[in-house]
Amino acid sequence: HILAHLPRIAQLSDAAINRIAAGEVVERPASAVKELVENSLDAGARRIEVAYADGGKTLLRITDDGHGMRPEDLPLALARHATSKIDGTDLLNINSFGFRGEALASLGAVGRLTVTSRYAGHDGAAVAVAGGQIQPVRPAALRGGTVVELRDLFCATPARLKFLRTDRAEAQAIGDVVRRLAMAEPFTGFTLRDVTGGGDGRTVLRLDPENGDPQDALAARLARVIGRDFVENALQIDAERDGIALSGLAALPTYSRGSAVTQFLFVNGRPVRDKLLIGALRAAYSDVLSRDRHPAAALFIDCDPLQVDVNVHPAKAEVRFRDPWLVRGLIVSALRHALAEAGHRASSTLTG
Ligand code: ADP
Ligand code: MG
Repeated sequence: HILAHLPRIAQLSDAAINRIAAGEVVERPASAVKELVENSLDAGARRIEVAYADGGKTLLRITDDGHGMRPEDLPLALARHATSKIDGTDLLNINSFGFRGEALASLGAVGRLTVTSRYAGHDGAAVAVAGGQIQPVRPAALRGGTVVELRDLFCATPARLKFLRTDRAEAQAIGDVVRRLAMAEPFTGFTLRDVTGGGDGRTVLRLDPENGDPQDALAARLARVIGRDFVENALQIDAERDGIALSGLAALPTYSRGSAVTQFLFVNGRPVRDKLLIGALRAAYSDVLSRDRHPAAALFIDCDPLQVDVNVHPAKAEVRFRDPWLVRGLIVSALRHALAEAGHRASSTLTG
């Protein structure tokens, strides 16, 4: 009889639920780095170090000087749907990177996670460990801030492990994530270290905290991350429409590239890869650039969190604006205006 074969419905275990959720948040070592560095930024860190071994597959270690956590909060930090950033009443008004309370729980389900933290002003540090299950909190030694260590990512999900690329490619992806986040946080210092084989390892990237006014700090940071020639060949963008602000640098058409690798877009400090924004950037240059060239730009959109929904995608790479046409129009007109002015200046120097 057919009913005899009807499968029974059963509730999944917490470990299984975490592992499934982790699949959405953590695709590769670089996605773990993104979550952990965002946590450090949310904690107000001024210096963040990212260390990795074997492309992040065997070890990721993020060290920050942020506000840390209370020992009694550590087990909660590792638990699912536990966050200090929202209270759940206003899911649209989000000012922090995190809010799902999912990252640490997910990472603890797909690797061996150790979180050591010392709350500012507290005497001692504490450590919590998860690897499938959260272990009791123990005292530890730490001067301040938080150290999150993730070993053997995907050891519990060998199928995922098989999809990872070479150590070199994974390390490259980690570098990309750190560089993107660093562009939006010029006042924070970032160090990236390859510690494969143990020891102090090799410094891959070192960005000291910039100082000065925000515009100068941003230009200095972009020069360090993208290159001095980008900054020297770029126009300052500064525009605003109906509470949406656009700032950053957009390169002259002569600096354009054969690929889109030099396009960096941020919404409220969050690196995004958004079709609407990329399309607007292309449209702005359509009169001055042939179709096979890609404009280079680092653009920052800042608006009331209520104007944009970042809760569209677990990794928050896509966003949804309340008024997409307003944003598109702002980008196209601000960039065209800047390009026209620059063209005007260039031609008047030529003739004058
Ligand atoms: P979310 O960032 O969405 O809140 P996470 O799982 O990433 O979720 O982190 C859970 C909680 O742990 C955070 O809300 C925060 O209170 C705490 N936390 C995580 N990382 C850090 C850190 N580096 N410094 C201080 N607190 C942290
Ligand atoms: Mg987080």
